Amino acid sequence: MSSPHVLIIGAGMSGLTLAQQLRQKNIPFTVFERDVNRNARGQGWALSLFGEAFDLMKSSMPSDLGPVEQTSHLLPLNLPPQFSFYDITRPDFRVGVVADDNLHVIRANRHRMRDWLMQGIDVKFNKRLTRIEEHNDKVTAYFEDGTSATGDFVVGAEGTRSAVRRHILKGQDVMKPLPIGSIFGEIELTGEKFSEQLTLSHSNYIVMDPRLATKDQTAIFCALNRVSPDGKTGHYYFILLWVDQDAPKDASKKRWTELASQEELAAFARERTRGYPEKLRKLVDQIPTERYNTPGFQLQGVELEPEQLPAGRVLLIGDAAHSMAPFRALAANTAFVDSFRLGDVLARVRDTQASGDQLKDLVSGFNADMLVRGKLASSVSNGVLEAYGEEAKFITFGREAGPMPPKPIVLSDVGVVA
Ligand SMILES: Cc1cc2nc3c(=O)[nH]c(=O)nc-3n(C[C@H](O)[C@H](O)[C@H](O)COP(=O)(O)OP(=O)(O)OC[C@H]3O[C@@H](n4cnc5c(N)ncnc54)[C@H](O)[C@@H]3O)c2cc1C
Repeated sequence: MSSPHVLIIGAGMSGLTLAQQLRQKNIPFTVFERDVNRNARGQGWALSLFGEAFDLMKSSMPSDLGPVEQTSHLLPLNLPPQFSFYDITRPDFRVGVVADDNLHVIRANRHRMRDWLMQGIDVKFNKRLTRIEEHNDKVTAYFEDGTSATGDFVVGAEGTRSAVRRHILKGQDVMKPLPIGSIFGEIELTGEKFSEQLTLSHSNYIVMDPRLATKDQTAIFCALNRVSPDGKTGHYYFILLWVDQDAPKDASKKRWTELASQEELAAFARERTRGYPEKLRKLVDQIPTERYNTPGFQLQGVELEPEQLPAGRVLLIGDAAHSMAPFRALAANTAFVDSFRLGDVLARVRDTQASGDQLKDLVSGFNADMLVRGKLASSVSNGVLEAYGEEAKFITFGREAGPMPPKPIVLSDVGVVA
């Protein structure tokens, strides 16, 4: 093995970041993606990039990609990322975190991020992985279209419902529904309505009710997805999240939100937010029924124990290895760090021509570190909603929120970046 050939399954956040690392290190790889082409599916909305993942994106990506700041959801508006928390019993009080010279954050539009990460990568689309075979020192990945590919390593970067993970677990799975209900809706806003949302927070805000008991906690997460190129229209989304004691215990069972009509989802969201002060429920009120996302989905958790992840030639990164609730914005950040670290490990494998026990040690070191980071991120993320009913600390972008007095934003006064 002069240089290993790496088969990456999934052209999402972690798979493409790993691909860029391998491209930079001259390690051969191929990326396989189930989508039929790059625009076949919406890429979700926005994600926060901060801490170690931000630093690595700045310091360790190929320079021909250009600055990662171009993925910002606020562009072309000249505003810093800002995350606010509201309490419906004190609507004019807010706490939050805003990016500045000491706190580097990008709230990235996922579509822009995927385009940025895909530069120079020849993704093989319409390749849904169905199964894997391991033989001697090679691994073969089989796809739904009847084709296959053989390499030295397969990396499962295909998200929460990973087929690679199922292969490793010999057909079993550890994915479990999280006891959190969720409903999503979208809208585009212009003029004063856009200014109102920017005033509530530049990037995103959470509205919660501290009077609710832990088991009844409900919150809305309202967020800017992207801004139109002329800076005049904000594309927004919201997620209603609630502690859902009735969530199925088993991932094969569907929750009602996965089967409900748009009318049912909208009625539920409006009922749950009816008691909110008008300005804090305005985004929900404005979203028409036909802009509720169907089918809804159930948030899933994935946690693996070290003994479930053997140090072999089939590896996992990202949500395939650790899925968690979205509250601390840690999932993608953890996935990105996995990709950088695995890139380094594969370079060591190539440089030392590692095989046998030496290869095992390198892979098991990577797995152990990834599982510890994943477990830590899950443990601080999964209980956040329940904690809103107690004395909650509001943490985002890796920082505790501090008082952030309301400050009106008038869209026509906001500078536009060329
Ligand atoms: C509502 C919500 C909000 C979130 N907000 C944030 C946030 O603010 N900050 C944050 O850090 N994280 C956030 N996350 C989490 C973040 O989106 C994920 O952690 C991140 O996308 C994981 O990257 P990944 O590469 O593991 O998977 P993905 O980005 O999901 O990529 C998986 C890819 O694999 C492909 N694929 C799937 N199955 C197959 C197959 N069988 N064969 C081939 N290809 C396949 C998929 O099409 C996809 O392109 C949020 C998640 C949710 C649900």
